[in-house]
This record gives sequence, structure tokens and C-alpha cells, in this order.
Amino acid sequence: MHRLFQFRGGVVLKEHKKDATALPVQPAKLPATLILPLKQHIGSPAEPVVAVGDKVLKGQLIARAGDAICAPLHAPSSGTVTAISDHPVPHASGMSAVCIIIETDGEERWRPRERTLSNAAELSAQELRGIIRDAGIVGLGGAGFPAAVKLDPGGRPVDTLILNGAECEPYITCDEMLLREHAREVLAGLLMMRHALAARRCVIGIENNKPRAFRALCEAVRDSGADVEVVEVPTIYPTGSEKQLIQMLTGKEVPSGGLPIDIGIVCHNVGTAYAVYRAVELDQPLISRYVTIAGSVAHARNLEVLIGTPLGNLIEECGGNRDSLHRLIVGGPMMGTAMHSDTVPVVKGTNCVLVESTTHDVPLPSRDAYAMPCIRCGNCASACPVNLLPQQMYWYARARDFDKIQDYNIFDCIECGCCDYVCPSQIPLVGYYRYAKSEIWNQEAEKRQADLARERHQFREFRLEREKKERAERHKKKRSAVTQGGSDDKQAAIQAAMARVRAKKSAQDSTPKNTDNLTPAQQKAIDDADRRREEKTRQNPNESKAATKPDRP
Ligand code: SF4
Ligand code: SF4
Repeated sequence: MHRLFQFRGGVVLKEHKKDATALPVQPAKLPATLILPLKQHIGSPAEPVVAVGDKVLKGQLIARAGDAICAPLHAPSSGTVTAISDHPVPHASGMSAVCIIIETDGEERWRPRERTLSNAAELSAQELRGIIRDAGIVGLGGAGFPAAVKLDPGGRPVDTLILNGAECEPYITCDEMLLREHAREVLAGLLMMRHALAARRCVIGIENNKPRAFRALCEAVRDSGADVEVVEVPTIYPTGSEKQLIQMLTGKEVPSGGLPIDIGIVCHNVGTAYAVYRAVELDQPLISRYVTIAGSVAHARNLEVLIGTPLGNLIEECGGNRDSLHRLIVGGPMMGTAMHSDTVPVVKGTNCVLVESTTHDVPLPSRDAYAMPCIRCGNCASACPVNLLPQQMYWYARARDFDKIQDYNIFDCIECGCCDYVCPSQIPLVGYYRYAKSEIWNQEAEKRQADLARERHQFREFRLEREKKERAERHKKKRSAVTQGGSDDKQAAIQAAMARVRAKKSAQDSTPKNTDNLTPAQQKAIDDADRRREEKTRQNPNESKAATKPDRP
């Protein structure tokens, strides 16, 4: 008998799960168009490796993971890439983001196998993580964190691997149906994850309102002989929240601001285990998942839906009326997000599509009611499973005192909505917390930007100053070199000039150059002239002397 540790707070909710579990799961109809946002996970967006006009096969890689915290994308069906452009994505703000849009050809042609299958037990932890990463698997419980990253404890010992089958929100039944129909495959995936983590023990937590799923799991474990505990937990919302399930199964609390691995625990969703099994055993990337379609539809049920299928297609397939939509929630009524359009696609983290028509025939917690003033009843604090003070956080959020609200650990709030649910004044408390968190994130992002800009500016100033100094230094060296070198040159020039003068003078003093290299005739003429002059000198010495002297004026 596994000992349980009840967390404080929480609420008991009406389940509304019967309708969607009445029918077996079947594949959803193939949509004409698949819309695949590049970012369906926590981390950076995937990078497209296809272009508009490309033909793609089912399972083919269409966007690769650019860095470690990212997940690649694969074509959920065969067809043609018709656009890579902005399209509305499932987000509370109604924002658009870059999506790869594929027009399906109806042939569902698979890409060839990319690797030969091997016994999973023979694969190393590293090889397993590589397969899981390449298959684009993210946490299917809704968080969307790349599974391979979470399966790498980075050398830290893992005492317990918990598989979360609690699924505590009303209406959502996709995990329950998965366990009913594929308990053995989920168990096989769990054992692969255990191998990757080298976890000492494995525990599967499942709420006690899912007896068929519980039985299927117990049978699978018994037949396999695996050393895995299957534990039923009380149906109290939010048992399915990671930290609360950990506390309930182990009695350990994840520290504020910390992660389960900090206390030697890793928790994964049952859908993630199934995706791991398919990737490792069947060489299939994550291209589909179980989704609950519930609320104002004629046939609430679970479908196996291709990632990228527009929500409107699912509503029509389940007999809903798209024209009379009042609210469309992705997720459950407590933690889900209202969509602005039914053209947004199913993404890897979509577990439920909850439809509310204008006739309000679905008993969802109302978010339209007029909020009354807080009467300080304290119900919210009693219901909070994280031991926070929701009323105080509400006041500080209203006052935009974001420093103070952090003193009350707002980032430990899991946005479960228990405080909203019990508030007699119908104050949309979670809305205030989400607003405060996003403001704090924005302020921090702005501060980071400002710090970065200041650092850049300071570095630029430093660089300019350094360059200025270096330039001055270079000029100084050059000047000094010129001065030193100039003096030498000057000396050399003077010496050369003096040499030239000396040479010229000596040339003037020497015998005329026109007596050199004479021809015999010239020499003879000179000799004759010299003879005549000597003869004349002999005959008349005085005349000869006078003739050699220049005439005076
Ligand atoms: S439950 Fe509502 S009314 Fe009561 S203390 Fe909390 S915020 Fe105020
Ligand atoms: S939404 Fe946050 S504050 Fe409210 S009960 Fe849940 S954890 Fe507590």
C-alpha cells in the first residue's frame, strides 16, 4: 500500500467526464489544410527546412531544432507546403505567429523509415534521448517543454520517475482514454524514460475516478513484470498539477522557484510516455495526439488528431455549431485559455477543446460575472494548494505594486484557479495574477534590454577611448620616427652635396677632357700646333709671352 500525503487546499469539482468517455477514440478526419506553428513548445522556434511548393511526406522533417531548448516539427500528413507565413495560433492574446501550412493530398503517404529498429533496452540513455529529441516530443500535459531535455538529469541522481495520469480538470479525458486503450504502450514508454534517467523507481499516479484506466495499467504492469507502482490518488483538483502530485505521492515539496529534479524527482505525462514509445519502437515522430472535444457539441468524445488541424474542424466533426460559439477554450475550464478564433490549430500541447455556445448550455465556471468588492473572507487562501495569500496578491496586482507582489511569491502560483472558483465576490483573481506576471516579465525584459544597451554604450565609449589612445600612441611613435629618421637623412643629403661639390671642383682642376681619346688625325693636328707654338716661341720669345696674356681694356 503506497502512502499518500495530502497537499493543503484544492477544491472538489464536478467532473463532466462521462460523455467524452462513452465512445472509443478514433482518428479525426483529415483536414484539407494543416497549420503548424514553428513554436509549439517552450524554447526557441523551430527553423523551416522546406520551402513553399515543396511536396512533403507524412512524418517528414519540416522544421529543425535550432538549439538545445527547441523541438523539431514533422509533416502530420503528405501534401504540399502552400505557405510559410503568419497565422493565428492558440494564445490568449489572439496573436499570430509563423506557421508552415500544408495542403494535404489525402494519400497519407509515410516517409521511408529513418532508422532500423532495435531493442530499446540495448540503446544507451544518450541514444534514447537523441531519438526522442529528433521525434519532436514535448511534454504533452500542456507545458510543452522538450521531453529530451527533461530526460537529461545532467548527472544528478534521479530517485523517482512519476508518470502523471491524474488529469484532474473537468471535461478532459484524453489521458484516461489513452490509458484505457494503450496502457501497455504507455508502460513501455515509461520504462524507456526510466532507462534514460536511470531512475531508481517508477510510480504512476492516477485519480480514483478512472477505474478502467487504473485496471488497464495494473494489468499491463503485472503482465510485464516491471517494477512499477500504480497508485490511485484522491480526485481533488489540482492533483494533476506536477508539484501537487509529487507532494501527494512522495511527501516532498518542490522548493519555491525550484524544479522537481532539485529533489531527485522527474515527472512526465502519460501522453509523453506514449509518444516516446511510438518514436522508439515505431520510428514515428510526434504528429498526432489524443484530444478531448467537449462542451456544446452533439458528440463529446476523444479523437486522435493530427497536429495542425484547425479547431473548427473538430467542432464540426463532433456536431458543434461554429456559428453559435460563445467561448472556445483550449484546455480545461479551470486553467484553459479562451481562443479568439476557431481557425487556430491543435498544437502538441492541446489536450482539450471546450466549446460553449451562446445558449450557455455547458456549466462552465463563469468569467463574465460582474466582480464584487473583496469581503476579506479568506476562502481564496484556504483553497490555494500552494499556500499563497491570493487576496494580498490581488491587492498588490490592482495597485500595480509589482515589487511587493513578488514578496508574496506570485511566481509560485500555478494558476490553478481554485481561488477564483471559491471567491464569493467572483473576482477574476487569476486574471490579475497573469497580468501581474506578464507586467513583471515585461519590466524585467525592458530592464535586461536597458542593461544590455547600457553595457553596449559603455563598451563603445571604452572602445572609442582605447582607439583614441592607440591612435595618439601611433602618431607619437611616427613623429618620433620621422624626427629621428629626418636628422639622418639631412646629414646624408649634406654629405652627398659636399661630395658633389668636391667632385665638380676636382673635375674643373683636371686636364680638359677634350684631349682624351683623340683620333690619330686630331692628335697629329695638336702635335703640329704645339710644334709651331714652340717654334714661334723660340724665334720670338717676347711676342710669344705677350700673345699668351689677355689684352687689358
Ligand atoms: S475569496 Fe474573494 S472575497 Fe474572499 S478574500 Fe479572497 S478575494 Fe476576497
Ligand atoms: S491560482 Fe494561484 S493563488 Fe489562486 S489558488 Fe491557484 S495557486 Fe493559489
